[in-house]
Amino acid sequence: MTYKNFTVETDADGIALVTWDMPDRSMNVFTEEVMNEIDAIIDAVVADASVKGAVFTSGKETFSGGADLGMLQKMLGIFHAEKAKDPDRATKLLFEGAGRMSWLWRKLETCGKPWVSAINGTCMGGAFELSLACHGRVAADADHVKMALPEVKVGIFPGAGGTQRVPRLTDQQQALQMLTSGQNLTPKKAKAMGLIHEIAEPEKLIDTARAMIRNGLKPVQPWDEKGFKLPGGPIYSAAGANLWPPAIAILRRETYGNYPAATAILKCVYEGLLVPFDTALRIEQRYFTEIMQTREAAAMIRSLFVSLQELNKGARRPADMPETKFRKIGVIGAGFMGAGIAYVTAKAGIPVVLIDRDMESAEKGKAHSDNLISDAVKKGRAKPEDKERLLSLITPSVDYADLEGADLVIEAVFEDSAVKKTATERAEATLKSSAIFASNTSTIPITALAKNSVRPKNFIGIHFFSPVDRMMLVEVIKGKKTGEKALAVAMDYVRAIRKTPVVVNDTRGFYVNRCVLRYMSEAYRMLIDGVPAPMIENAARQAGMPVGPLALADEVAIDLAQKIMKQTIRDLGEKAVDPEQMKLIDTLVDKHGRFGRKNGKGFYDYPAKPAKKKLWPGLADLYPQKRAEDVDYDELQKRFLYIIALEAARVMEEGIVTDPREADVGSILAFGFAPFTGGALSYIDGIGAKEFVAQAKALQKKYGVGFKPPKLLLDMAANGETFYQRFDPYDREAREAA
Ligand code: NAD
Repeated sequence: MTYKNFTVETDADGIALVTWDMPDRSMNVFTEEVMNEIDAIIDAVVADASVKGAVFTSGKETFSGGADLGMLQKMLGIFHAEKAKDPDRATKLLFEGAGRMSWLWRKLETCGKPWVSAINGTCMGGAFELSLACHGRVAADADHVKMALPEVKVGIFPGAGGTQRVPRLTDQQQALQMLTSGQNLTPKKAKAMGLIHEIAEPEKLIDTARAMIRNGLKPVQPWDEKGFKLPGGPIYSAAGANLWPPAIAILRRETYGNYPAATAILKCVYEGLLVPFDTALRIEQRYFTEIMQTREAAAMIRSLFVSLQELNKGARRPADMPETKFRKIGVIGAGFMGAGIAYVTAKAGIPVVLIDRDMESAEKGKAHSDNLISDAVKKGRAKPEDKERLLSLITPSVDYADLEGADLVIEAVFEDSAVKKTATERAEATLKSSAIFASNTSTIPITALAKNSVRPKNFIGIHFFSPVDRMMLVEVIKGKKTGEKALAVAMDYVRAIRKTPVVVNDTRGFYVNRCVLRYMSEAYRMLIDGVPAPMIENAARQAGMPVGPLALADEVAIDLAQKIMKQTIRDLGEKAVDPEQMKLIDTLVDKHGRFGRKNGKGFYDYPAKPAKKKLWPGLADLYPQKRAEDVDYDELQKRFLYIIALEAARVMEEGIVTDPREADVGSILAFGFAPFTGGALSYIDGIGAKEFVAQAKALQKKYGVGFKPPKLLLDMAANGETFYQRFDPYDREAREAA
């Protein structure tokens, strides 16, 4: 029998080698067709008396990325369409769909012949669950071999037996940790946890797997044997009593109950371990059906998986431009940002010329890369050869002539128009006419800076966030005259350094900083109103923000906030900044010398490590304090999410961002907008424009014009539209392709 996605070859010992290699995909994923073929292969292995057992592996460098989440989205689409007609039937269909993979893996593990999974590369989600259902598991000893059940990161959980097999192979504490974090496991770690049996040299992987079968591997899983005992003891035991109450508390501390899938994992493990295996799988299937219907799952799958992938693959890149292979990139300004940009560029294997005003500064910029990569080597995340190679790619210099031949130059000199003008002119004197010049400015409009260029078509903004090595988002800013080629080159560059680009039209603060400023300014408003600072920070985190607004202000630096406010007043007039907020910031900076984390004094005090930062007690003396019981805590949480979402809506209304995928993904990657909502616009869509507008108006009455819903939202409310309907990204893609 032949299959589209698999080859099956049986050797002289009667061991079938099942190799998964999808012809039309770069990575193996589970689709309906793949699962049907696996089903047929299991039947064929069982039916053929000459086959003793089977080894399952991949013909690609990676093993598999797991389920095609597009398939899940489709299943949900059918569910919602069917639900309107016949809710019971809809739920039944979803329940069956949710269990399809789980029962197929169960069929494999109870088929009577031994199966071994030979894990040759990254093995994620459903693929690792398939491996766990095999009677033997061997992984190749190589850096690129990673195993994980990462479903929780997109709002679902391992629903094909993962929540049941892992805690039957390893102790419950490690199992919960792995399942609720979605962490990657190296072969060594997986073996130590008891999740795989062997580690083999890559070239001996298949032989090792075959040998397991030849040596009499039993085709029965431990949990199907009589007298099976859980490693680490049953739930109702002293160990269980010690584990479960704190486990629930820890999860609550980490998630504030915002992630239903994480909670469901705990329920699946706890309830599943009390019953026989088949019943346990049913319990898992029920919770999985429930979780798939949550708003969180739909929103997270869309933004954090589907949209993120689409943007990373260049959904917003002009399609007809040839792809740029970078031979050399110039970075001007080797300060805080430039040094980081040089690092991420060299890490992508691209040669960088790093220019500053004097050699000492340029060298200091390169030393930043040395520090980062040396640290990675120390932690075992990079090899000494990687360090050598990366550092050999960075050439510090003071001579602009060294930019010759660069395909792209990124300027990160002082935030000063005159300094930027000189840098542009000096670079362009050397650059070939096809080269692209980019500015990393955070506040100066790209259109204004492009006036310094002799080739404004080739001038663009590439706006990084700090710290550059860790922040995954980059704003690509189009000036009025920026051409399509510049856009394509900038997007190719962002892709090369493996970050996510969002395309933004030129405006003050672009997209991200506009939202971030709203977030911090709402916190200042609360402080001025006498809300105790700890309540402000806790409310924001409980709303789903990873960093409280006052902590964030400290990271950005309060004196920088002061500079931005003063510049805004100069540019737009007194009314552009709330005088009370200006006074608060002036008091902190000018009277108390509190600049933020950088001088150890901001909204927080930063004592020497290992002591932790603490909110500055002096904050309570700045304004008469409200009593905690007089503060509407739920409303504080709501204010944070609303004020940011409203700004994101304005950005869409003004055409600064044009694709809701970018606004959503950008809001999560740049400032961690409550990821369970799917991002700032999905948050509004989830509530519904009509309800959101009503709530925003109520907040506007109490807290002012920042909460005024823009006309766009009023229109959407009147028409019952969502952002993804009004600005349908796929509709536009189809139009552009036509
Ligand atoms: P920085 O002061 O740390 O670094 C600027 C560097 O540019 C210095 O090393 C300086 O010696 C060098 N320089 C100045 N004039 C030069 C010239 N003519 N030729 C070559 N080198 C020159 O500043 P930074 O924080 O890295 O900011 C740089 C740019 O990045 C600014 O435009 C800033 O707005 C933008 N930015 C900053 C952040 C941030 O968080 N700091 C974030 C995004 C964007």
